[in-house]
Amino acid sequence: MIKTKNKKDKWIKLICGASNEDIVAIEDLCAIYTAAGVDYIDVAAEESIVNAAKKGIEWAKAGFKNSPGLMISISDGKDIHFRKAKFDPLKCPPHCPRPCEKVCPTFAIDNYGIKESKCYGCGRCLNSCPLNLISEYEYNLSKDDLASTLHKIKPDAVEIHTDINRIDSFRKVVSTLKSSETKLKKISISCGLNQSVNNSQGPEDLLKAIWERYEILNELNIPLIWQLDGRPMSGDLAPATSRDTVKLFERIGSDLPPGLIQLAGGTNEKTHEFLKSNNLPDGIAFGSSARKIMQPLIEFAHKNNKRLYDYPERMALAIKKAQKFLEPWKMS
Ligand code: SF4
Ligand code: SF4
Repeated sequence: MIKTKNKKDKWIKLICGASNEDIVAIEDLCAIYTAAGVDYIDVAAEESIVNAAKKGIEWAKAGFKNSPGLMISISDGKDIHFRKAKFDPLKCPPHCPRPCEKVCPTFAIDNYGIKESKCYGCGRCLNSCPLNLISEYEYNLSKDDLASTLHKIKPDAVEIHTDINRIDSFRKVVSTLKSSETKLKKISISCGLNQSVNNSQGPEDLLKAIWERYEILNELNIPLIWQLDGRPMSGDLAPATSRDTVKLFERIGSDLPPGLIQLAGGTNEKTHEFLKSNNLPDGIAFGSSARKIMQPLIEFAHKNNKRLYDYPERMALAIKKAQKFLEPWKMS
């Protein structure tokens, strides 16, 4: 059954990254994409990050009359959204053409290795090194337990990153959400097929896992978003990456429990084109692809110890680029 979409339900989320602690970039990104009209912004569950995001949103709110909700990313277990990359630069041969540096969307890599604060674990560099020197490590920015984090931050929404096999820990997270009495406007559930971990998982397993989570969440009576991650944190920004996300949506989208359906994990400027116009999801979330197009502008400002909005002409250019990037979703 194909669901009929209502234009007013369509929404767009900016993903800043569950392990992203690049405060200055987050502030600028939030300002740019708030101005361009996103509906939600998803950031790491840490107070300083949330404050940076709020500053960016506030800047744009005044001139652009848009006020996106703030969502924080949490997890019910080990999850690739909560990671960073590292290598020992002393092991690099002096004449390496440095492919790792070229693929990093945040310019986090230089002769000294990977700058932790600029790495958000996108994974692009992991397979780029011919000597396999780059590895990933778990990184969770939030040092508090979930109840204290919710109490301090009071987000508009949370996104729970879960995995097919983690139903018990998912139940515990939901129970904490319930007892915290945080007034959430939405709960998003990010669950994808993590093929690198378990090749035997298929779309039917994912569907079953999502329905199990729906049964648990239903009693909270909070609007739900099912985030289908086609290629969670693959780091691949090639246009064809979107095909996995679209394929997953076409396979199980119409069988999901009540709630909004949002695509993520491999979404980019091509995603809209790959979808059938009579079967669009309720929303879309952009992470690396939204950030990559802004990075040169943001870097310019930061090298001069400023925010991008300290340069009105460049900020206007960034907003125009963001509007163009979001246009197919705004128009459909
Ligand atoms: S490519 Fe991605 S994972 Fe690698 S250093 Fe850059 S941000 Fe981190
Ligand atoms: S590609 Fe590998 S060897 Fe070359 S600079 Fe990067 S980490 Fe070092």
